[in-house]
Formats: sequence, structure tokens, C-alpha cells
Amino acid sequence: MALGKLLIFSAPSGAGKTTIVKHLLQKYPSLLSFSVSATTRERRPYEVDGKDYYFISPEAFQAHIAAGDFLEYEQVYNGTLYGTLKNEVERIRQAGKHVIFDVDVIGGLNIKKQYGDDALAVFVKVSSIDELARRLMGRNTESEEKRRERVEKARREVQYAEKFDVILLNDHLPTALQQAEELFEQFAGVQVEKV
Ligand code: ADP
Ligand code: 5GP
Repeated sequence: MALGKLLIFSAPSGAGKTTIVKHLLQKYPSLLSFSVSATTRERRPYEVDGKDYYFISPEAFQAHIAAGDFLEYEQVYNGTLYGTLKNEVERIRQAGKHVIFDVDVIGGLNIKKQYGDDALAVFVKVSSIDELARRLMGRNTESEEKRRERVEKARREVQYAEKFDVILLNDHLPTALQQAEELFEQFAGVQVEKV
């Protein structure tokens, strides 16, 4: 059985990668599995431990670093660590499924570098920083200070877009979802019967 491939979605916070990743997981449940990252961030009320993230303490995170358990990890925001666990990725690939990632821009490029042609790195783009700020405001999951930090980071992150295999514009959501499906089907060689 062939090992699964890696489908990486990266973008500034608020661009819509979680929305796109969740859509693909719903559409292709037998083909795709989400790489659940570890984080020291607080859980949002709608998030499920072990499904959205492994929510762990800074001490537990440091122990994973010391044990060499991470494929990549980063302090994505001031004081908040996020990391991709090697055994999470390998477990999914061994089961013959493709792995889908929602990671930040530096983490996405880092994974791509390690997996080469087995990985497709997709940068999700929004037409303007103002629109990104509006979406973050609408999502209403961060304090104003944290939101500002995310928007500032976004200004730096858009400069990395050209380093990705594909740039996916998420302006009109239904169009972006359709394009994401096509990207996945092409990359993974999925034959889908159209009726
Ligand atoms: P990310 O995971 O990149 O931080 P989310 O998927 O959480 O982003 O999306 C941020 C917010 O923007 C959410 O409230 C989501 O419903 C909304 N959103 C996603 N795509 C669009 C779009 N194309 N147009 C308008 N709002 C969107
Ligand atoms: P959020 O706090 O909104 O869930 O995520 C914040 C940022 O951290 C997002 O850009 C998300 O993609 C990124 N992220 C989540 N998991 C990981 C990870 O394992 N590694 C890296 N580098 N970034 C991650």
C-alpha cells in the first residue's frame, strides 16, 4: 500500500484555512485525516481536545521538544507554542490515508522542505489585510490586542506566498472550496465520478 501524501494549508490567521480544511475532511472522510497539532494555547469553547488540537501545558510541550517528538514547532504568537507531532503524521500515512495540515506559514514551508514532492503546500490568500481583519473581528475568538498581533503577523506572512506550490484565493468561499477539492483530487490522483 502506498504511503499517504501531505496536503498543507497555510495562511495568515483569519484567511479561512480552518474552514477549507474542515470542508475537505467532510467531503473525503475515507481519504484524508487531519494532523492534530499540539499547542499551549487555551481551548476555545467550540474546540475539542484531541480533535482540533492536543491542548497541553508549556511543561508538556517542552518535554516533547526534549524527546525530539516534533516534525516542526514554533512560537507562532507571543508565548504560544504550536507543533506538528511526527507520530501523528506517520500514523496517518501508514494507514494509507493522506494527511491534511492547518499550520502557519513558516511551519508549512518547513514541512514542505522535509517531504518534497510528497507534499503540496497551499497558501490561502485574502484580497486585502482589511478583509482579514474583518473576518477575525467576525470570528470574535481573540481579544482586541491578540487580534492586532495576528493582523501585524499577517502583513509579514503574505510576503511568503510565492514560496508555496499554489496560491488559493479565498475571496468567494464556494469558489475557494471548489478549487481546494480540485487541488486535492489532482494531487492525490483521486478519481471521482461526476454525475
Ligand atoms: P483561519 O483558520 O485561517 O484562521 P477561519 O477558517 O477560522 O480562518 O476563518 C476566519 C473567519 O472568516 C471565520 O469566521 C470564517 O467563517 C470566515 N470566512 C472564511 N472564509 C470566508 C470567506 N471567503 N468570506 C467571508 N468570510 C469567510
Ligand atoms: P489558532 O490559534 O488560530 O488555532 O492558530 C494560530 C496559527 O497557528 C494558525 O496559523 C495555525 O495554522 C497555526 N498552527 C496550528 N498548528 C500548528 C503547528 O503544528 N505548527 C505551526 N507551525 N503552526 C501551527
